[in-house]
Amino acid sequence: MGGGRTLLFLEDDKDLQSLVCTFLREKGYRVEPARTAQEALGLLSRTPVDAAIVDGLLPGLTGADFIRELRKTQPELPVLFASAFWKDLKSHELLTRQLGVARIIHKPYRPEELLVWVDQLFTRVTPPPPPPEALEEAEVVGDDLAASLAALNAEYGARLKDKVAGLEALLGRLRAGEGGALEEAYTVVHKLHGTAGSYGFAEVSQAAGRLELVLKPAKDGGGAVDFAAADVAFRELAALVSVPVKPAPVVAGPAPVLPAEGVLLVVDEDAAVRADAERLGKAHVVRVLTARTADEARAVARRQWVDGVLIHMHLDGPLGGINAAHALRAEEGLSQLPLAFTGAGDVLEDRVAAAHAGASLFLPRPFTSQDFTAAAERMMAARRPERSRVLVVDDDPEAITALTHALASDHIEVTGLGDAHGLMEALAQHRPDLLLLDVQMPGPSGFDLCRILRSTPEWQELPVLLITAHLGLEFRLAAFQAGADDYISKPVLREELRARVQARLERSRLSRERAERDVLTGLLLRRPFIDGVRARLAEAQRSGRPMALCFLDVDHFKQVNDKYGHLSGDRVLTRLGRLLGARFRREDVRGRWGGEEFVVALLGETAASAKEILSRTAAELSGMTFEGDAGESFRITFSAGISVTPGDGASVEELLKTADARLYRAKANGRNRIET
Ligand code: GH3
Ligand code: MG
Ligand code: MG
Repeated sequence: MGGGRTLLFLEDDKDLQSLVCTFLREKGYRVEPARTAQEALGLLSRTPVDAAIVDGLLPGLTGADFIRELRKTQPELPVLFASAFWKDLKSHELLTRQLGVARIIHKPYRPEELLVWVDQLFTRVTPPPPPPEALEEAEVVGDDLAASLAALNAEYGARLKDKVAGLEALLGRLRAGEGGALEEAYTVVHKLHGTAGSYGFAEVSQAAGRLELVLKPAKDGGGAVDFAAADVAFRELAALVSVPVKPAPVVAGPAPVLPAEGVLLVVDEDAAVRADAERLGKAHVVRVLTARTADEARAVARRQWVDGVLIHMHLDGPLGGINAAHALRAEEGLSQLPLAFTGAGDVLEDRVAAAHAGASLFLPRPFTSQDFTAAAERMMAARRPERSRVLVVDDDPEAITALTHALASDHIEVTGLGDAHGLMEALAQHRPDLLLLDVQMPGPSGFDLCRILRSTPEWQELPVLLITAHLGLEFRLAAFQAGADDYISKPVLREELRARVQARLERSRLSRERAERDVLTGLLLRRPFIDGVRARLAEAQRSGRPMALCFLDVDHFKQVNDKYGHLSGDRVLTRLGRLLGARFRREDVRGRWGGEEFVVALLGETAASAKEILSRTAAELSGMTFEGDAGESFRITFSAGISVTPGDGASVEELLKTADARLYRAKANGRNRIET
């Protein structure tokens, strides 16, 4: 690959010097080693070189000083800068923008990685065209998305002709010897190469790639452009866009697993109410399923997807709906099913029972059209999985647009960043779940950014995918070496991109769940609980609603262990954890504080209503019988303390402290009680 080009290699470490020299020579480069800046300057005055690799820290003059010196005589010489220190993005900017460093390579580097960047200074590796079956693969997207993608592709296609016309003019100026025309033409061609494929114009992308290859040596080496070759490549490109070009079709796939519209199950013995709900559902694009009894409701929910259930609180007798709701949530996979109850008027008793059973809403009967829609929307929103956030970093705005449209969906939110120097700020602001990095950007490369992230504790675990035109083994090694999780080659195929991104997101979601949840009870651990409460607290303060924080502690739990065995103690904790997990609303935060202590934050509840709600949980728990290791049966109780914002403080710490003090009081006052 080296093509007999000469490299200056300035490095004071002898071992590294011999390793790299051997490796690069093997790859066809001539290497002139130097150990100090002075030696290198002397060498440069005698021998012309095609590029320099400069170590940052040298005895005497530093690498940066050397480059400053070098720029006086050789302003255009491509320079790679090797640094053993993590450069923050500001130093990157200084080195790349002010000293014209082509790339910063972090030490320790592998010779393969260095080679990637050295090769890149001189040639451009054109990716082989993707396998034909990949190009013909149907895009599995919904109808709406397919239509909007097709529109975007067509819109890009419509602009292609202008782009190519603009390029023709630039090439004319280039032939006339106009300064700067080469840079401009190259930029246009490079972007066409990288982006057209993402919009479905794979052939255009490949033709642009061939032209890029022709312009590259002149652009980098400053020699003459091979105009004959450029003409041939340009004509191929122009021929592709002279006829109206059509992007590869975006084909709608099979129906997605989740129905596009929401599905609401209405459980009511009153035929008039069921008919009403069906009518309202049609008017508000909610698919309404109905059931008359609790058994019917379970049968329906077992058979098909349901986003939420609206149940008559007194179904078949007083509070019959509560039992129906518990039975539904006990079904496999439905423990988090959003619930709403309907009942007569504003009876506090009903509202409390509904909240305890885990209802997000209580609708007075008969319900109005607005109430019904609000209830449906609230439940749909609760059922929707939280959206994942993806941050795309690419210097080409069109590439960002293409990637955004390929990825954005109900489940994924995409933000673009054009200037890599702003990465840290963007991360802090958007807190993405995954990062897509273009490898070749002006300033820090995707490799650099990857390493900076891997050395920043906060972002060490963030999944990173590199996007690149390089496909070689050496590149892949270097990518993984830098800490990337995966890579995607250009031109990016939508299906592949989506599949890779989704696989990464799913994996990190699972590992986060594992890291955040207690195994015994399935509840949040202390740290994530506090994070969750902090978010709810901010929400409560914004909307001026109260929030209650409850501290629970099992009474005489040590005796349970002592009398019935540690294993049965564990069973108690598991069942109490499940009870806390299954009751309350989705938006309420529940955690295991440690040992036999639990914490629950109830949004929108006052001390009085929280106490009512928790009393029901206490009653439910004391009604359960547990089995000891020797077959004995026993019952348990808990004590609790409740604090409320704003009355008891505005911070999580204050609320926890107050609730804990009240728990202590509950214990002192005889246990099995709740203090507010
Ligand atoms: P009080 O009513 O005052 O809360 O009395 P207590 O016995 O419940 O309180 P204490 O804090 O003295 O004892 C808590 C016990 O919980 C001690 C500890 O061995 C036990 N424990 C903590 N974690 C676990 C666990 O994961 N499994 C089991 N089986 N026991 C646990
Ligand atoms: Mg205890
Ligand atoms: Mg305790």
